[in-house]
Amino acid sequence: MVVGYGKRLRETVALVKSKTSKSYMCPSCSRKSVRRTAVGVWLCKKCGRKFASGAYEFRS
Ligand SMILES: [Zn+2]
Repeated sequence: MVVGYGKRLRETVALVKSKTSKSYMCPSCSRKSVRRTAVGVWLCKKCGRKFASGAYEFRS
């Protein structure tokens, strides 16, 4: 049994989840309303703009 591997994997999953569920600053309207809608696709709830960015983290 590999001790420690399962814990590290769970921590990585938690980190990715927190990044994907977070709101990011919109480069178009400057409001913190960009949410991930699909892998690599981000949508601003305020101005409705779609952005192609990182799979798990928004980069403008
Ligand atoms: Zn916007």
